[in-house]
Amino acid sequence: MAQDYDVIVIGSGPGGYVAGIRAGQLGLKVAVVERDPFYGGTCLHRGCIPTKALLHTATVLDEIREAGGIGIEVAEPRLDMEKAQKNKQKVVDSNARGIVGLFKKYKVEGITGSGKIVGPGKVEVTGEGGAKTLTTQNVLVATGSVPREIPIAPSDGERILTSDHILQLGRVPASLAVLGGGAVGTEFASMFTAFGSKVTLVEMLDRLLPAEDEEVSKEVQKAFRKRGIEVRTGTKLTGVETTDGGVRLSFEGTDDKVEAEALLVAVGRAPYTEGLGLESVGLETQRGYLEVDALGRTKADGVWAIGDVITRGPWLAHKASAEGIVAVEQMAGHPTRPVDPKRVPSVVFTEPEVGSIGLTEAAAREAGYDVAVGKFPFAAIGKAKIEGKSAGFFKIVRDKKYDEVLGVHIVGAHATDLIAEACAALQVEATTEDLFRAVHAHPTLAEGMAEAAHASHGAAIHF
Ligand code: FAD
Repeated sequence: MAQDYDVIVIGSGPGGYVAGIRAGQLGLKVAVVERDPFYGGTCLHRGCIPTKALLHTATVLDEIREAGGIGIEVAEPRLDMEKAQKNKQKVVDSNARGIVGLFKKYKVEGITGSGKIVGPGKVEVTGEGGAKTLTTQNVLVATGSVPREIPIAPSDGERILTSDHILQLGRVPASLAVLGGGAVGTEFASMFTAFGSKVTLVEMLDRLLPAEDEEVSKEVQKAFRKRGIEVRTGTKLTGVETTDGGVRLSFEGTDDKVEAEALLVAVGRAPYTEGLGLESVGLETQRGYLEVDALGRTKADGVWAIGDVITRGPWLAHKASAEGIVAVEQMAGHPTRPVDPKRVPSVVFTEPEVGSIGLTEAAAREAGYDVAVGKFPFAAIGKAKIEGKSAGFFKIVRDKKYDEVLGVHIVGAHATDLIAEACAALQVEATTEDLFRAVHAHPTLAEGMAEAAHASHGAAIHF
């Protein structure tokens, strides 16, 4: 008997909706099931896009404060949080409408409701009109993740917040404690500092952004301290009391307390598979995550998974999208290539920004490469001086034997955009010679990439 669909995608985050569009382009009969009343998932509604919209407000605020230095006299700017939130929502809504338009264009059927696998090739969707069972050749699980919570600091949406809560905040707390020095914690610390909160950032490990190259962590930490953020690394939270004014935090090995109006718990994300019916196809999870092969296939025939819900990180929007494309290409018999997790860039939108890809210096040495490193400071780039953005550096890690670029780490203005060149370089296994012989336009921040490549041979021109 013919099935209703070639593929049913459960979840419409950047993994699911992109997979849906690519499936439509390839002529597959596809439906995307989403339990939220809108498409786009965490990234569009509770993650990447709303944070960056508010961070843009934060950046402009800081730029206005510094405008006197380049000859523009303005009064002290005042943040209107309500308007900032409205602007954020406008951006989110516009993108969500965009997905609806793209679904129409590529003949993707969007279905609102909760999806549950009820047996091989069967998905039950429960929505406003009740439940219906659809049949399909393939199921693609793209159910993503939710904020991870810890028992000593359960969120209440008032004083103890997750990223979901803080994104809706209509006020700026006078003081904010942030637990977790990863990308989410540092971005909110950076944002609320610009908004005027006194921020204390607590991280159990010995440095912020522990997945980044050590020198990058140090640079961000230095910049944060300069901006007045109290950074407490190597600090383990042991207790949270609520007080009249907010929260009081205690830590291991010290009587020292931190008081703040609110606490943001940013200790990572947990994969989401609740009520998904995995048992009906004999699937188990590993610490909540689904295990898949390089193309996204689970051990159950015709069940695939991508994005934040799978064991293989990094858990980022662009990785989810890339995996979604690969999975449906494979289903359609279209030539494809697995996503290489080592070639997935990481981006952090703090002030200063971070963009990185490939091996850190320590990881390259640990992997046994004969390593050379080239560093070039933003302070020596003409365009950075023009923009008053002299903090940070480009760092290239290369293999001496073949001159191959192993990793690129940028901390500084527009690092999240500048890393794109390195993504292409790693994809084509470029050498640092390829990078420094590629002529970079002047005056641009991107010149730092060519200079760092030169520097890895001890021959930076402007430093
Ligand atoms: P999700 O985006 O989580 O989407 C899953 C969808 O599935 C949701 O819409 C959910 O409602 C739906 N769903 C779940 N179960 C069911 C069901 N049974 N039936 C129907 N629907 C279901 N990443 C970046 O790359 N860059 C960033 O700048 C960035 N910033 C972030 C900032 C914050 C504050 C947060 C929290 C995350 C950020 N991320 C960022 C991470 C990024 O949001 C995730 O990696 C990405 O959203 C994962 O995509 P996904 O498609 O796997 O899942």
